[in-house]
Amino acid sequence: MSKFWNKKINEAEPYVAGEQPKKGQKVIKLNTNENPYPPSPMARAVLRSFDVADLRLYPDTNGTEFIDAVAQAEGVKPSQVFAGNGSDEVLALCFQTFFEREENTDLSVLTPEFSYSFYPVFEKFYGIRSKKIPLREGMVVDAEDYIGVPNCGIVIANPNAPTSRSISTEDIRKICKGSPDSVVLIDEAYAEFADPYETAVSLLPECPNLAVVRTTSKSYSLAGLRVGYAIASEELIEGLKRARDSFNSYPTDRLAQKIAAAAVKDVKYHEECIKKIVKTRTYTQNELRALGFEMPDSSANFIFARPPKGIDAESLYINLRARGILVRYFKTPGINDRLRITIGTDEEMQTFIAAVKEEVSNAKDS
Ligand code: PMP
Repeated sequence: MSKFWNKKINEAEPYVAGEQPKKGQKVIKLNTNENPYPPSPMARAVLRSFDVADLRLYPDTNGTEFIDAVAQAEGVKPSQVFAGNGSDEVLALCFQTFFEREENTDLSVLTPEFSYSFYPVFEKFYGIRSKKIPLREGMVVDAEDYIGVPNCGIVIANPNAPTSRSISTEDIRKICKGSPDSVVLIDEAYAEFADPYETAVSLLPECPNLAVVRTTSKSYSLAGLRVGYAIASEELIEGLKRARDSFNSYPTDRLAQKIAAAAVKDVKYHEECIKKIVKTRTYTQNELRALGFEMPDSSANFIFARPPKGIDAESLYINLRARGILVRYFKTPGINDRLRITIGTDEEMQTFIAAVKEEVSNAKDS
């Protein structure tokens, strides 16, 4: 609290990001869903050839080079793409642009009860009413639960985080058609890791109320660059630009635009990287299940696992941390019996599994 902060900031409940180890600290970092592999070699090539003198000039507001690369890859018009400083910023702008403040409506934004923990932060900060929709058995989002419920917007992460489960494009179609006067925001931060890959972008020609938000942070290994984007109808993108230009006209910088464009164009490298992670995910799930852990099949680059009886998730998180292995633990009731584990390299996951084996056997002995 501070007398120098306004009421809104005094009352804010900011998002708490996963722990970032200090420079030089050696850890196996499986706590923030980063990609364990380096970005495309094309990103390095951009850095090498970049003329520092260009930094003298402001960047292109829209990030045209990057937007064109995304439009080409997704088969949409460049005017249907919007780039921002990480998808967190794009999501924040979507909440401000598409959802009504509580003084103007009695309606709420619908989100799954357990989902990305930034959504409730945005809702509170922007004064938006929120209604949490419980998950079904197996932590599944059921499209029917979002139909016929009055709302001023719907936000679903697909695959959902931290549950790792996905819903079908057909279900998203039903949700969009069920609320034609609201914007349906589909956060596809992890979509590329689903097997088979599906994207709601294919629904855009028939769903003018759909906004798909993506990031280069996960499958493109560029979390440090901060480039996220939205793909939607021109009408929705125009709204986002109005919000952006009322806040910061240059959300992505010159270097970020070039590097992100190069990464998106390197389709082969991207696919190879995803394949490796999906393979390692299968290995990790199998090993953990053999040790008595329970988890749904993951569609993301992380798994959400409940330790076997007799092992408390929080204690396991603390013990792994003491061994230099960081995973994510949420204290939230309803999911506080699980750990969210990012998929690292094969070697990292072998070390992780060996550590978990020891923890399980220590717990049995005690
Ligand atoms: N959406 C979801 C579901 C996430 O888990 C994350 C990562 N914390 C983000 C969006 C934001 O990613 P970024 O800002 O790095 O694009």
